[in-house]
Amino acid sequence: MIEKISGIRGMNDLLPEELKLWSFVERKIISLFNSYGYEEIRTPILENTSLFQRGIGEVTDIVEKEMYSFTDNLNGNSYTLRPENTASVMRSNIEHHLTYNGPRKLWYFGPMFRHERPQQGRYRQFYQFGIEAIGYVGFEIEAEQLFMISKLWSLLGLSKSWKPKLYLNCLGTLEERSSFRKALIDFFSIYKDVLDKDSLSRLERNPLRILDSKNQKIKDLISEAPEINQFMGKESLKNFSNLCNLLEERSIPYELNSSLVRGLDYYNSTVFEWVTPFLGSQEAVCGGGRYDHLVEMLGGKPNGACGFAIGMERLVSLLKKANVLKVGSCLDLYIVHIGSFAKIKGLLFSELLRAVGISVKVDMTDASIKSQMKKAGLSTARFVAIFSKEYLDEDAVVIRPIHAPNSVKDEKIGFRTGQEKIKLNNVIKYLQSELSQKEISK
Ligand code: AMP
Repeated sequence: MIEKISGIRGMNDLLPEELKLWSFVERKIISLFNSYGYEEIRTPILENTSLFQRGIGEVTDIVEKEMYSFTDNLNGNSYTLRPENTASVMRSNIEHHLTYNGPRKLWYFGPMFRHERPQQGRYRQFYQFGIEAIGYVGFEIEAEQLFMISKLWSLLGLSKSWKPKLYLNCLGTLEERSSFRKALIDFFSIYKDVLDKDSLSRLERNPLRILDSKNQKIKDLISEAPEINQFMGKESLKNFSNLCNLLEERSIPYELNSSLVRGLDYYNSTVFEWVTPFLGSQEAVCGGGRYDHLVEMLGGKPNGACGFAIGMERLVSLLKKANVLKVGSCLDLYIVHIGSFAKIKGLLFSELLRAVGISVKVDMTDASIKSQMKKAGLSTARFVAIFSKEYLDEDAVVIRPIHAPNSVKDEKIGFRTGQEKIKLNNVIKYLQSELSQKEISK
């Protein structure tokens, strides 16, 4: 026997059953983003490694340990599978002068790649929906983005107790952050003997990341450490309190968390994370904030920007746990047949139905009618049509609703009753009228 080749650990196949749930969520998210005036952008999965080194920061977990990088044999360049998409969108924005005529609101969806230790909710290939609002300064756009995310939880059907919780922090301006950084180095240097290996290595290179530590000893120390708001100037404080006021006006609950620094270097001012207790240790569903200096760091003209990313796998897991995912019918009709003559008739007739926008799957097997019916029942189709010589001789087929809510189960084949014999030249009209009624009652 030839050995089977399996997929790569942490890189999952998304199978049709799962993707039906994803499509439901994707449609909701895309229509929400569009309703706020965001436009889609798609950038390549592969970028020059230097983009992420410069954009995300050399002293971050992503750049230090998690990037899939390789040297191209043909030209010796180093390329990286994107670990996130903000740097790529900013690169594209600079390259194509996207903000030449003013601010731009963009959204993306696609796979990201990080060489992390795979576990539930943490994968090496995972999908993010994201938003980048480029050319916007001020707290208003931040507020609008948080309104939008809060609305998303409701649109997806999450009740109050299931909604992720919003944590907010302000990292201040570059200058304020730099004074804070210095104060952190001074503080943690006193406790070098308490710091673990990770924190020690962060101390000189990126002390803010110590605040991210999950080690309880370090967490205790952090509670004594200086806080960013001690270093924030009037302007930063005012902006942040304006944002908080707007959230209160919209009754969006939030909690201030001075340890929230986010793992990427490009953030300044407002940062946020939406966290849920229902996903074990991988609790962040969405994260983002302001990154006013990224465009400049990547060689563009200074331009304020703010955005966020939602992890699809974690979001779908949460929705499954909350039991709010509804998969609508993807198919209008499933055609079954008795005998090869009827199968060909069904095949030809399905083309006429698709031509008027009715989606159809024809059973192509030679299985018994009972087993074809079973498959129709398991499909997402709303109706089943039975093609058999007996009825075709009368220019007719039999049509039945699948999963009709008030009909009686037909014990013989496990189907719901309500079947009708319909003349072939009336099938389109009949289905169109039935399908539109179902649409209204949905
Ligand atoms: P980040 O780009 O790290 O701020 O992540 C944004 C969101 O992407 C997180 O809140 C998660 O929902 C999701 N995410 C990040 N890393 C992973 C991963 N390795 N596997 C699955 N989802 C992830």
